[in-house]
Amino acid sequence: MRSEVVRCGLLMVERGLVAGTQGNVSARSTSGFVVTPSGVPYDSVTDEDLIEMALHGEVLDGRLEPSSEWRVHAAIYRARPDVNAIVHTHSSAATAWTERNRPLDHALVAAFAPTGTDDLAGNAVEALKDHDAVLLAHHGVVGVGTTLGEAFAVCERLEERASRATP
Ligand SMILES: [Zn+2]
Repeated sequence: MRSEVVRCGLLMVERGLVAGTQGNVSARSTSGFVVTPSGVPYDSVTDEDLIEMALHGEVLDGRLEPSSEWRVHAAIYRARPDVNAIVHTHSSAATAWTERNRPLDHALVAAFAPTGTDDLAGNAVEALKDHDAVLLAHHGVVGVGTTLGEAFAVCERLEERASRATP
């Protein structure tokens, strides 16, 4: 499972959905979830670099800092028992779309809140109630699924829809 998270991070870069150390990936584990570290380029992240956290935010295992947006992941896993994987990207067309404040491919735009806050996590959960994706205002995309493949496909689909819709 850890290696799937690492591979998914690499795939985000390969497909142009994030640049540098933007975005993050997580998967549910038996005691919480495993998330990518903060500030480490995806092509150098190893299985051991991932951080395992409890759903309330306690670090269970890992020597690096978790992604600064871990609260979004924790809140989604708490609210959605059906979700096993979360992918967060800053892909360009979908992020530009969030400025319009209109749904895209059924995904709603969550109200703006600063990165890393409980407010952002709460707004994302609210917009994800009946959906598998949410657009974070002025920020990016969060896709969820029962598998990492599904969550990734959600982010990729939204980027594709946004790029076709934007002249
Ligand atoms: Zn972000």
